[in-house]
Amino acid sequence: MADLHARLGFVSEAARTIWLHEAAPPKPAPGAPCNGCGLCCAAEPCPLGVLVSGRRRGACRALAWDEAEARYRCGVATGRHLRWLPKPLVRRWIAAGQGCDSTLERS
Ligand code: SF4
Ligand code: SF4
Repeated sequence: MADLHARLGFVSEAARTIWLHEAAPPKPAPGAPCNGCGLCCAAEPCPLGVLVSGRRRGACRALAWDEAEARYRCGVATGRHLRWLPKPLVRRWIAAGQGCDSTLERS
């Protein structure tokens, strides 16, 4: 999670400040293709992220910054965490390719 706090750039959601990489792309509208902005996973872990993170609140520990592509990636999907899980199952569980399902907004 050092990546999340290494650079400037933050968003506020209600009374919360969520730290994101300064080069993270802006969050797209709900339903648009996911661009790896990281906002949803930095806000709270999904069920798989709860397994990795060992908590239900705060940024997911599986969220990883991809410097080369200047976007966040899911460490479960890339095999960095829970690598024993079949990839097709992981993609289904995290709704990969389904578009952005977050209604959070950056301030
Ligand atoms: S699902 Fe939406 S909020 Fe989450 S990383 Fe993708 S674009 Fe960002
Ligand atoms: S999609 Fe991946 S990075 Fe995002 S909360 Fe779930 S496990 Fe964590």
